[in-house]
Amino acid sequence: MSEYVNVRASETLGQEELVSFLKSRFPEATKQIGRTVVEGTECVEVRVPSNSPEFEDIRRFIDARRKQGQRGFSDSTIGWYLRKYTRAELQNAEALRLTIASHFEPSGEECGTIYETLCNHCNWGLQVSDLILDLRRVSQHKDISETIAWVEWVVSSNFVRTFTENKLTGAEFRPIFEFKNPTKQSKDWYQLRVTGKAGGLAETTRLGRDPFSPSQISWRCPLGHSVVTEFLSEIYLQRSTWDGSDIAVTEALFGQGRNLLRPAPLIIISQRMYRTLQEAGFKGFSVEVAHFV
Ligand SMILES: [Zn+2]
Repeated sequence: MSEYVNVRASETLGQEELVSFLKSRFPEATKQIGRTVVEGTECVEVRVPSNSPEFEDIRRFIDARRKQGQRGFSDSTIGWYLRKYTRAELQNAEALRLTIASHFEPSGEECGTIYETLCNHCNWGLQVSDLILDLRRVSQHKDISETIAWVEWVVSSNFVRTFTENKLTGAEFRPIFEFKNPTKQSKDWYQLRVTGKAGGLAETTRLGRDPFSPSQISWRCPLGHSVVTEFLSEIYLQRSTWDGSDIAVTEALFGQGRNLLRPAPLIIISQRMYRTLQEAGFKGFSVEVAHFV
C-alpha cells in the first residue's frame, strides 16, 4: 500500500497564503482545480507521499497558521489521505471498505420519499416509505450509486441477481418507485438496504480533522449519533461485534446532516463479495482495505 496526502487550498476559503506556498514549493506537482474565472478564487491541489519531507514542509506551514488561529486554516479541513493498493493486497484482504463513488440528484426526499427525523442536531432519520426517485437520473452504467442524501443506495437488477445467485449475505433489496409514476415499481433498479452489522470501530482507527491536526474531531452530535471526521488511517473494526455478513454497516454514523443530508455508516464488504463484484465487472465504487481486530 502506498499512502499519499492530497492537499487542496482555495483562495475563496481564505487560504491565499497556502495557494502561493504550494505553487512556489511544488511548481511541477501543483494542479489547478477548475478554471479560475474571477481573480482571488484560485483553487489548487497537490499530492505528496504521507511519510515524506514534502508532507512535513506542508504540515509545518499549516500548523504555524493554525497556532495563530488564522481563519481559513483553523476553520477548514485541508487535505485527506489517499491509499493505493496492489491487486494482491486487495485480493488478500479479509474485508474492505466500500465507497460508493457515483452520485446523483434529486434525493429521494425531494421526490416524495418520507423520512422521520430523529435528531435535530445531526439530522439522523429513518426512511419510513418506499424509496421514490427520478430514475432517469440514476447513473445508467453504474451498478451501484447513491443520491446526494448519503443514505440512499441504488443497485442494478444485475447486482441483485449476482448477489442472490452467489448467496451473499447482509443485504435486502427494496423496490424503488418512479417519481413520474409513483405506483410503478422499477424493474431495473433496487434500493440496497444493508442489514449486516459490521459492529464498532476499534480504537486503532485514527480519526481527526485532517492529516495536519490529527487529534481534533471536526464535530460530534451532542446526542452521540454521528461524528464529522476524516479517517486518518485504514478502518479497523472490532471482530467480536461483526456478524460475519458479506456486506455490513458500522454502528457509528458519520457526517452532519441537514435538510436532505443524513449521517451515514461505513459499508464493509467481505473478500468473497469483493471478488464477486470484480468478476461481474460492476462499476460505481472504490475500495480500501479494512481490518477486523
Ligand atoms: Zn444526532
